[in-house]
Amino acid sequence: MLRFPLTRAGRSFQPWKSCAIGSFRFSTAADASPSHQIPSKVRNLIGGEFVESESNAFIDVINPATQEVVSQLPLTTNEEFKAAVSAAKHAFPKWRNTPVTTRQRIMFKLQELIRRDMDKLAMNITVEQGKTLRDAQGDVFRGLEVVEHACGMASLQMGEYVSNVSNGIDTYSIREPLGVCAGICPFNFPAMIPLWMFPMAVTCGNTYILKPSEKDPGAAMMLAELAMEAGLPDGVLNIVHGTNDVVNNICDDRDIKAISFVGSNTAGMHIYARAAAKGKRIQSNMGAKNHAIVMPDASLDATLNALVAAGFGAAGQRCMALSTVVFVGGSKPWEEKLKERAKELKVNAGIEPGTDLGPVISKQAKDRICKLIQSGVESGARLVLDGRSIVVGGYEDGNFVGPTILADVTSNMECYEEEIFGPVLLCMQADGLEEAIDIVNRNKFGNGASIFTTSGVAARKFQHEIEAGQVGINVPIPVPLPFFSFTGSKASFAGDLNFYGKAGVQFYTQIKTVTQQWKDLPSQAASLAMPTSQKA
Ligand code: NAD
Repeated sequence: MLRFPLTRAGRSFQPWKSCAIGSFRFSTAADASPSHQIPSKVRNLIGGEFVESESNAFIDVINPATQEVVSQLPLTTNEEFKAAVSAAKHAFPKWRNTPVTTRQRIMFKLQELIRRDMDKLAMNITVEQGKTLRDAQGDVFRGLEVVEHACGMASLQMGEYVSNVSNGIDTYSIREPLGVCAGICPFNFPAMIPLWMFPMAVTCGNTYILKPSEKDPGAAMMLAELAMEAGLPDGVLNIVHGTNDVVNNICDDRDIKAISFVGSNTAGMHIYARAAAKGKRIQSNMGAKNHAIVMPDASLDATLNALVAAGFGAAGQRCMALSTVVFVGGSKPWEEKLKERAKELKVNAGIEPGTDLGPVISKQAKDRICKLIQSGVESGARLVLDGRSIVVGGYEDGNFVGPTILADVTSNMECYEEEIFGPVLLCMQADGLEEAIDIVNRNKFGNGASIFTTSGVAARKFQHEIEAGQVGINVPIPVPLPFFSFTGSKASFAGDLNFYGKAGVQFYTQIKTVTQQWKDLPSQAASLAMPTSQKA
């Protein structure tokens, strides 16, 4: 294993840090001169050391606004992967016996450090992922809230106690960590999703292997550095990089007890099946098609703002983005105003002030989005607004797609059946609330659904009958704060225990029940019958 010069606090030098946010990495329209420096290599974190991989296969991490290579990410070798698992396994016994109050204090420190470095984290996210700086701050902040939640772990993992369940016998339950756990991340929230994963896991007493997205690993690396600075002992958090092979290694490894996954259905169902076959616990958050139902009585201004923000924000690359609107009574009265507001949005590189939406993650993603728009048009949808041919001055190479609106969409169209994951809003119509709910419920995904109405009766019916895990009433992106859980359902989730909240603690712990008896027992003949609390 390669070792690197130690700097403060005995930590190794982290070139990814400068490479991710250093001057030559991100360029503005004014400073778009191509870099002649060789991009630095993203490191693995193994046993407390940031080490350069000995792999000879690397993937370029690309700025989606400029196509500049930000850094190079290794396909971690099998040996390095095994070293990471071994470090996590080795660190586990001591860490699980570390008082929960100590583990909490490290999270207290981590949340402070994340606040301190919020701007740097956000800048890295904008450079690697493309979203606007303000949105990138939101990405960090929503993850930070999970760190804050983990600070209360002592209360969160309290067990239960029943005294005298039988004569002189008490039973109590305790929650114990599982051992080595792992997390596999998507590209769209480079800070929030790693923070959904390792803070809860390690504060429960587990050790961790994190695999960031190969498309934007920088924020996860910065967070790992902050976690070390906060006092997380060596080996408690490890990071490996790569794609399918390293993910398959995670699924197969006997020492890994549980896997948290967030990403597409193809990867998520593969991981769920493969890891479950090895007896692992899995929580798999996957794709979505989030609907809004707009009632004729909905407040006009607030609803239009919500549709535009949730449909086009983050260039539609949120798993809770609103991708489909069902207008009860027809979409025509809404279309012109929707189009006006969508046209006002400023499409530009995320680092440019005033930008509303940045580029999508890759050229392939842009091609796929454009093809799905075209397929909608060819199957009869009406193009109310077409963002495909947008060119952004100073960023001509960026993967930009402008806000796009398709009307008269029906549920048999490919653009409706597939998750588009781009700034495309599909408009459908229904004669009444009943029909609108039926449209939403027939969709295979169940991440989120919202209703916009001023009628409590309609809202209550919607909340009661809608088959989606996260329900919004006049709220476009109803992602709950971490004291609840992220409760996607149907094809948007596989597993039993959701991310964070109570379910998150349950996911990362094993319950143990203890039945104890402390009394002087009169000597009596052994009874071989099943013990019961009843006298025979
Ligand atoms: P992705 O599935 O392509 O990648 C996610 C992770 O899986 C990456 O780390 C990648 O390396 C790995 N991976 C990809 N294909 C794999 C394969 N065949 N075998 C093994 N590993 C594989 O997802 P993405 O494009 O990074 O993220 C976008 C998707 O994530 C969207 O579908 C979005 O809805 C979903 N998402 C869901 C939630 C949620 O909470 N439900 C949140 C964020 C994103």
